[in-house]
Amino acid sequence: MKITDLKCTILGSNPVIRITTDEGICGWGEAESSKHYLKSHVLFYRDLILGEDPTNVERVMLRIRRMGSFKPWGSAVSAIEMALWDIAGKAAGVPVYKLLGGKVRDKVRVYNGAVRFPMNGQAPEDYAESMARMKACEEGFSIIKQGVGFHGPMIKEDPSRFFGEVQGGRGLTRGLLTERGFHHVIDCVRAMKEVLGDEVGLALDCGPGFMVPDAIRLARALEPLNVMWLEDMITGDYTPYVLADLYRDVTMSSSTPIHTGEQIYLRQNFVDLIEKQAVNIVGPDPADVGGIAELKWVAEYADLHGILMAPHGVFDGLIGLAALVQVCATLPQNFIAFEYPTGNPAWWYDIVEGLPDRIVEESMIEVWDRPGLGVEIIAEEAKQYLPEGDEDFFD
Ligand SMILES: [Mg+2]
Repeated sequence: MKITDLKCTILGSNPVIRITTDEGICGWGEAESSKHYLKSHVLFYRDLILGEDPTNVERVMLRIRRMGSFKPWGSAVSAIEMALWDIAGKAAGVPVYKLLGGKVRDKVRVYNGAVRFPMNGQAPEDYAESMARMKACEEGFSIIKQGVGFHGPMIKEDPSRFFGEVQGGRGLTRGLLTERGFHHVIDCVRAMKEVLGDEVGLALDCGPGFMVPDAIRLARALEPLNVMWLEDMITGDYTPYVLADLYRDVTMSSSTPIHTGEQIYLRQNFVDLIEKQAVNIVGPDPADVGGIAELKWVAEYADLHGILMAPHGVFDGLIGLAALVQVCATLPQNFIAFEYPTGNPAWWYDIVEGLPDRIVEESMIEVWDRPGLGVEIIAEEAKQYLPEGDEDFFD
């Protein structure tokens, strides 16, 4: 089998990748909805993989993997990898999980980072109210993640509460907290925990941007509340480096689990975090780390070192969801849950076939058995949403 084309379009705002072959099988991949600008980057790899046998996934990846980087520049390579596995599964007539070593679980747990309700403000009672609505969702989420501190709307509403001035833009908010800001985070977390009790776990996305003393103080202060994890306090989303030694200082100072990794590209860049025991949980995203096999390698190495696994995925869309289900079915027992991506806009659910009617029940997704990733984009339904110039995407 040979690759005959690599195509990319933007559906909604998710980059969607289609690899075609000389045997009529095509493979799908998808990148985060926040990367609507990715098309030309995807097409850069086209000439490097044309004519290759897509079922030799690793051999194809060796041609392109070194030409990627931390988020957002690992996304194209990652989505291509997903599409190669999709083809390999379809060619063999088996779901991708079989090619990754087989499933070790029939259902995979998800956590909520995507289903959100408008908040009236940023006071503890607003966080409590929002948490009550998420707890009542039909998906029955057993873990809910909320942004606090430097992550999400809390810092934007009143920057002076934290340290006076937001330096602007993603990842540029960084510095020592005011005592008032520190207390506000704790008050909001306490309010959310009162709603969730011990029935639903609370994970907190915190940064990046915390200074080490604040990170240690927060992790210690939250110990009695038993949060699931504190995510990305030091480095994180769109930080093109890791700083494992700083994470280690925080992790060794508290019993509150410390989590990071969503922006990291390739297993090599997890070595320090894992070998130094610098965090308790890693959370690579299959659409940023280099693909689903890459994510599995990270999970296996983490497991050897007693480190847990909670993959990121909030913006990965419905093909990304399929990729997460397939790989997470195969992960070792350090797997906690992955971050459930939703289809956005809602018409995504009309253009994809293969998903169960109710995707999540009691926070679990049943692993499906259709060949490849097990989902297809229905060309006839999707054509109306193609951007101008991409009318031949499904040809
Ligand atoms: Mg995060």
